[in-house]
Amino acid sequence: MGNFSEKTNSIETYCVHGACHLFDPATGAVSVPIYQCATFRHPGLGESTGFDYSRGVNPTRSALEETAAVLEHGKHGLAFATGMGAISAVIKLFVPAKDVPVHVVVSEDLYGGTYRLFNEYYAKYGFEFSWIDTSHPEKIAAALKPNTQVLFIETPSNPMMKVTDVGKCAEMIHRRGGFLVVDNTFLTPYFQNPLDLGADFVIHSGTKYLAGHNDTLAGLVVHSNDEYAEPLRNVQKSEGATLSPFDSWLTLRGIKTLALRMEKHQANGKLVAGALRKHPKVEKVFYTGFEDHPQYALSFVQARGHSGLVSFYVKDKKDAERVLKKVSLVLFAESLGGVESLITYPLAQTHNAIPEAMRLAAGVNDRLLRLSVGIENPADIIADLEQALG
Ligand SMILES: *Cc1c(COP(=O)(O)O)cnc(C)c1O
Repeated sequence: MGNFSEKTNSIETYCVHGACHLFDPATGAVSVPIYQCATFRHPGLGESTGFDYSRGVNPTRSALEETAAVLEHGKHGLAFATGMGAISAVIKLFVPAKDVPVHVVVSEDLYGGTYRLFNEYYAKYGFEFSWIDTSHPEKIAAALKPNTQVLFIETPSNPMMKVTDVGKCAEMIHRRGGFLVVDNTFLTPYFQNPLDLGADFVIHSGTKYLAGHNDTLAGLVVHSNDEYAEPLRNVQKSEGATLSPFDSWLTLRGIKTLALRMEKHQANGKLVAGALRKHPKVEKVFYTGFEDHPQYALSFVQARGHSGLVSFYVKDKKDAERVLKKVSLVLFAESLGGVESLITYPLAQTHNAIPEAMRLAAGVNDRLLRLSVGIENPADIIADLEQALG
C-alpha cells in the first residue's frame, strides 16, 4: 500500500484514505484489493513476503487493522470475526493464578452478549466479575479488590445511555496496576478516543457504526501496549477468530464514510429524541445529547458528539408491543449503527441473557425500547414512530 505523502490529523481524511493510502501500488486500484487468499508463496527457505497464511496475517485485514489503529490513536490494531471475538481476546490476556481469580469490574448496563461471555463462560475459568454502575466513580472505588486487574466499561452504556468518566477510571485502575478496557462501539473514534483519555484497550463491534450498513460482522481492538502486542496477536492467531478478507474490505469501505454518517446519525438522533420527548405516550427518553442528561457536561469533556442511539420508556407495556408491530420504515431488528433505523426491545433481545433482577435494577424493563436512528430523512423516521405509537 502507498504511504501518505503529507501527514494529516483530520479524521475525515483518515477515514477515506486509511492508515496509508489504500490504493494498490501494483495496479493503482483506488480500493484496497480483497486478498481472497489462504496462503502465500515463499520465494525460498527463510524468505518471506511478510505473509504466509491468512489466519495469521492477510493484507486486506492488515489494511483495516492499521486504519483502526490510526483512527483510535493507538499503535496496534487487530481485527476479529465479531465484536465478541475482540472482547474475548482481550480478556484472555489475563491469566488467573492457581488460587486467585482475575477480578474484573464491569459496567452493569452493557451489551448483553458481553454479560453472557463473562458470566457464563469466563466465570468458569478463574475470573470473577462485579457489575457496577460505572457512571458513579465512588461505586467503582468501592468494588475494587486486591485482585482487580481489569475495569471494563461501555460509555455511553447500553441501553440506558449513562456516561462513565474514562479518565477517572484509568486513574483508579492504573493506581493498582490494572488495565482499563473501553468498548467504544457507541461513539466510534469519530466522537471519542478512549486511549487519549487513558484507556489501555479500546474495543469495537465493527458490525455497528464502523462498517455501518448492517451487512457484515466485525470486531476490532486497538491499543498501544508493546508488552501485550505479541500475546494479543497470538490469541488472535491461535484461536482463529480472525476477520475474513471480504469482511475486512467491507469494514474498510464502511469506514470511508464514517464521518459523514456519524454527523447525520447525530443530527437525526437529536431530532428523533426531541420528538419522542414531546410524545404523550412516551414517559422518558434517554439520550446523551439532552442538556439535562445527568452527565451532559462530562460528554462534552471526553467526547465530541452524540451518536444516533436513543432509548425510551413508553407508558404502558402494550404501547411497546404495538410500536414493534406497527413500525414500518423503522425496522424491528437487533443491532445498531447501520444506515437503516432499527428499533429493539432490549428485554427480549440484546439483554435477554441478563438475570431479571439485575436487568430491572439497571432500568431494562418491559416498557423500554432502543432506537438506532439511521440516516433516512428525519421527518420520515419521526412520522413512522408517531404512527406506531398511535
Ligand atoms: C454488538 C455489540 C457487541 C458485540 O459485537 P458483535 O460484532 O455482535 O459480536 C459488543 N459491544 C457492543 C456495545 C455492541 O453493541
